[in-house]
Amino acid sequence: MSADTILRNAWANFRKAKEMLSSEYSEELLEKVGEPHERIEMRLAPMFDDGKLHAFRAYIVRHSQDLGPSKGGIRMAANVTLDDINGLAMEMTWKCALIGVPFGGGKSGIVADPRKLSAYNKETLIRSFTRSASRHIGPHIYVPAPDMGTGEKDMGYIKDTIAYSAGTANTDGCYVTGKPVILGGIPGRREATGRGVVMTLMASLEQKGMDIRKIRAIVQGFGNVGSVAAEVLHELGATVIAISDIDGGTFNADGLDVPELLTHVKETGSIANFPGGENVDGKAMLEMDCDVLVVAAAANQIVDENARKIKAKIIAEGANSPTSPEADKILAERGIFVIPDILCNAGGVFVSYLEYTQETQQEQMTLLEVQERLARRMTERFNVVWDMAGHKKCSMRDAAMYVAVRNVCDAVQARGFLP
Ligand code: NAD
Repeated sequence: MSADTILRNAWANFRKAKEMLSSEYSEELLEKVGEPHERIEMRLAPMFDDGKLHAFRAYIVRHSQDLGPSKGGIRMAANVTLDDINGLAMEMTWKCALIGVPFGGGKSGIVADPRKLSAYNKETLIRSFTRSASRHIGPHIYVPAPDMGTGEKDMGYIKDTIAYSAGTANTDGCYVTGKPVILGGIPGRREATGRGVVMTLMASLEQKGMDIRKIRAIVQGFGNVGSVAAEVLHELGATVIAISDIDGGTFNADGLDVPELLTHVKETGSIANFPGGENVDGKAMLEMDCDVLVVAAAANQIVDENARKIKAKIIAEGANSPTSPEADKILAERGIFVIPDILCNAGGVFVSYLEYTQETQQEQMTLLEVQERLARRMTERFNVVWDMAGHKKCSMRDAAMYVAVRNVCDAVQARGFLP
């Protein structure tokens, strides 16, 4: 994966939306909504448990604040770049606008391999990032959340670092989402993205007259998004025949026992050598015969080399930017139905919004309320995009981008242009 491809993908998708909207908004306005509002690069130097200072780079991109404070996760990965973060923040702008939450797009990156950090050193790094970024984080500025390589615990440390610096027990409003429930997090946030992926899939199956209990699914990625999507698919009666993580995949033509695989991963740290399946190559797995392919791992997994070999009828983009623009064209020519990332994985940011409002109003929502609201919103927005794709005779991705960019343009116009 080339480092700047996420940004290239994001611009390719945006250019198509710009073209579709060229008769409705001025060129200057469309140009403005595409460019990032702010790109920040920081250097962190926390002291680790070896008593030495360790240097790390970190980035924050606030792509947009037209609909509200910038919102988007913190990615911790050894190869993340400022351009990746820019591309992901841009995607967040469209995702928030599409799913209908009052946020702009943002994203952070910390250049570090989380698998190489002890729990203590990772906590120290997260606290160091929070201190350095404190001017840029706030309920009306930028509200981070988990992304690849960060999770619930880290969000708790962020809240604590901010409250500690202020000398208070709590933060005044919501500074970060995806926190542990005991610290003002919301039940169901961790599962929201994966559940949302399956909800958009259910809506697609309904449109196509397919029964979930008769489908064979493949899931790439077994982290926060992929493991939940696989679990929910399994619960709903789909046959999940193959699942992969970064170390490889496991396959069982009769269906994998997903809860057992979860236990195996908890015990061994990887999918490899799962007794309930046979080891398969993770890349080759994407090309296996199936009805549904859920890509929930990393960017650019479907590219021009494998797009012609994919056999799935439906692809659900749980990951951000998993398909290159070239591959997207090939998939469209082959009639493969793609649920685009900004729709498919928007469940996480929707439930983050519920967490934000809950904390602002000092309320507590139940898991059932969260799940019902998530299901309603995902299905409703799927149908908006489906109808638009029919109306414009375009792909789901182009329709989703059209709706999203139009909403952001409307927000800019509503704010006015001065000074
Ligand atoms: P995670 O770190 O929890 O899990 C990532 C998983 O993908 C791991 O199982 C890892 O081993 C696997 N993986 C990484 N590279 C792989 C490869 N080349 N082949 C196969 N497996 C690979 O991350 P996550 O939070 O589940 O995020 C996954 C994707 O979903 C990312 O693109 C992320 O931006 C996107 N996303 C996440 C959320 C969220 O709420 N967590 C929301 C929206 C989008």
